[in-house]
Amino acid sequence: MANFKFDVDADGIALITWDMPGRSMNVIDMDVIEELAGLVEKVATGATIKGAVITSAKDAFCGGADLTMLERMGAIYADLVKNKGGEAAALYVFEESRKLSLLYRRIETGGKPWVCALNGTAMGGGFELALACHQRIAADNPKTRLGLPEIKIGLFPGAGGTQRIARMLPPADALQYLLKGDQLKLDRAKAMKLIDAVVPAADLVKAGKDWIKAGGKAVKPWDEKGFKLPGGPVYSKAGMMVFPPANAIYRRETYDNYPAARAILQTVYEGLQVDMDTALRVESRWFAKILRSPEAASMIRTLFVSMQELNKGARRPAAEPATSLKKIGVIGAGFMGAGIAQVSAAAGLQVVLIDRDQETADKGKAALHKALSDRVAKGRMKSAERDGLLSLITPTPDYGALKDCDLVIEAVFEDRKVKAEVIAKIQAVIGDQAIFASNTSTLPITSLATEFKDQPRFIGIHFFSPVDRMMLVEIILGKNTGDRALAAALDYVRAIRKTPIVVNDSRGFYTSRVVGTYIREGHLMLCEGVPAAMIENVGRMAGMPVGPLSLNDEVAVDLAWKILKATEADLGAAAIDPRQKTLLEEMVEKRGRFGRKNGKGFYDYPASGPKKLWPGLADLQPKKLDPDTIDVQELKNRLLAMQALETARCFEEKVLTDVREADVGSILGFGFAPFSGGTLSYIDMMGSKKFVALCRALEAKYGARFAPCKLLIEMADKGESFYGRFAPAKKKEAA
Ligand code: NAD
Repeated sequence: MANFKFDVDADGIALITWDMPGRSMNVIDMDVIEELAGLVEKVATGATIKGAVITSAKDAFCGGADLTMLERMGAIYADLVKNKGGEAAALYVFEESRKLSLLYRRIETGGKPWVCALNGTAMGGGFELALACHQRIAADNPKTRLGLPEIKIGLFPGAGGTQRIARMLPPADALQYLLKGDQLKLDRAKAMKLIDAVVPAADLVKAGKDWIKAGGKAVKPWDEKGFKLPGGPVYSKAGMMVFPPANAIYRRETYDNYPAARAILQTVYEGLQVDMDTALRVESRWFAKILRSPEAASMIRTLFVSMQELNKGARRPAAEPATSLKKIGVIGAGFMGAGIAQVSAAAGLQVVLIDRDQETADKGKAALHKALSDRVAKGRMKSAERDGLLSLITPTPDYGALKDCDLVIEAVFEDRKVKAEVIAKIQAVIGDQAIFASNTSTLPITSLATEFKDQPRFIGIHFFSPVDRMMLVEIILGKNTGDRALAAALDYVRAIRKTPIVVNDSRGFYTSRVVGTYIREGHLMLCEGVPAAMIENVGRMAGMPVGPLSLNDEVAVDLAWKILKATEADLGAAAIDPRQKTLLEEMVEKRGRFGRKNGKGFYDYPASGPKKLWPGLADLQPKKLDPDTIDVQELKNRLLAMQALETARCFEEKVLTDVREADVGSILGFGFAPFSGGTLSYIDMMGSKKFVALCRALEAKYGARFAPCKLLIEMADKGESFYGRFAPAKKKEAA
């Protein structure tokens, strides 16, 4: 056995210690399932074995299933469909994916008591193992989290999790836990009775053994006669208070875009009406169906596999030695600069925070103090942690303090002249190894770099707001940016635990460029006479986190106006849409509606109460369409296809060079319909032929902005997909 240690003590109690060699975290893979199955039989049939305690030798108990195993299963399924037909392929997935569920059921019904001694975090299949045990005892470890987060990658717990949770919690709580994929701290899990006891870490195994010695029962409540569901039967008054509204909530939250969420509702609803063994079979059937869904395959690929590969440095130039990062400089203590200082200090880096004068620099740090104190007040942070973080940040107007910084990031006003002045001041003081980065959101990196003496050391590091919450960082390579600067930027992003994508210089880079097309499509719909409320709803129905008009209010309407004017000035009148120009001019210049920041945008923001669409919008529409004549599906297609098409153009122009970055960047950067797996996965899911046909139909009706690019036409002709044609090379360290 490679993954477990098995010891039986003098009392006949087995201790199973999970400790996968060469890994920092235990995960469930085929070998683990096989070895554990052997142990489960040994315990069940061993005449002298009274019961078993299972624990882990790692910091955590288990991180969940090895998702690459599920990815492989997907590939075998696709092969089987081709070679043996759909039914045989579906049967294969059902039987393979069911193995873990049957194994856990054997633990539950083998006749010997099992205790899960949770020394640390248990996720997904790891927590499902705990749920299958007869007793769950946790070590008093503040870092422990217990969760079933499968829904976040388009799956659901398929090893009995849905059925056990729904028999342990009232159905409304069970559904919420499963549908949100929340991670519980121990006190919460204990209060919900998902764990039975919390003990000091040193007593953990002993507590487990003591429970068995004291006669711990090897039968679950639901396997005993007379078991009553915590919320009563499905077909009862109480049940009817839960299930019909749950359907409505599901639709409100997902617009029916997430097959896994729908399957959770069905599995729980159906499973609670039958005995446990049948219920587990129901769960397995749904699980096998969801595992075969294109949504799950795309979400696993983008939100797990690719994200992990990017986080581990898939794009890092391998020859560059690791960057030593101790001290960084941040210029501009405004909204973004303060956020960058915060996340850097949180990673243990010393930060010099510079602004025009001491007072402004201090103001930036004071804003952080306030934001962090709010967190302390809410119990989300310890005051010592806040103070420790802030002590690493030194606000000053003195550029001399940048002398020994390894990396300097500027986040001053978005004004070429101001940036040029600041760059000159910085380069006069920093060392000749230090890397210089700009957080500009619109100015081309290549042209900014000409202000800097040593262009290979100049790079773009584009953060998203709010910096502490947004997980993506877009790294922009100027024409002359060198590998050392790229390696340093990636090492920095890794240190602050964010996910990087690396793109080449372009107007709006990747994310702003694509999200700009989403906003523009919303503007144009408004100009065509589509009611504003419909545009907003359709945005969310398509899977975007907010409608295009809300989003524009958040990033500022005057910024959109500024960008449009700059684009027209640089590229000529043909590069912009005159209808959008008229709309933005009216909003910004004539009506002073800048967005949320001045309380007036596409929405009004009353001092109290929720925002409301500005009624004056109707006056800005040259004509109005009858909502009943509008094709909602077409509006949805426009909003998503426009972004996917612009991404394909970025790919063709080599602004993007890696399909993983396109997809991960689109979901993490601007929330592109996560169920699709990202902008390029959206095209792959539809198929390039169908996508090009869709673009052509939209082009005929709405104009050249929907014209498919050459690359897409070629791919459609050859029946190619992005992930087929541009399969990312797997690096060793990224595996
Ligand atoms: P901000 O106005 O909040 O902050 C800018 C700060 O720079 C101010 O504190 C100002 O005093 C300081 N500053 C101006 N001139 C200076 C000088 N000569 N020397 C030192 N400090 C100076 O702006 P922000 O929203 O933080 O944006 C900063 C940069 O980040 C811009 O380039 C912007 O395009 C980019 N950005 C912004 C966002 C966003 O959502 N706000 C997102 C990504 C990137």
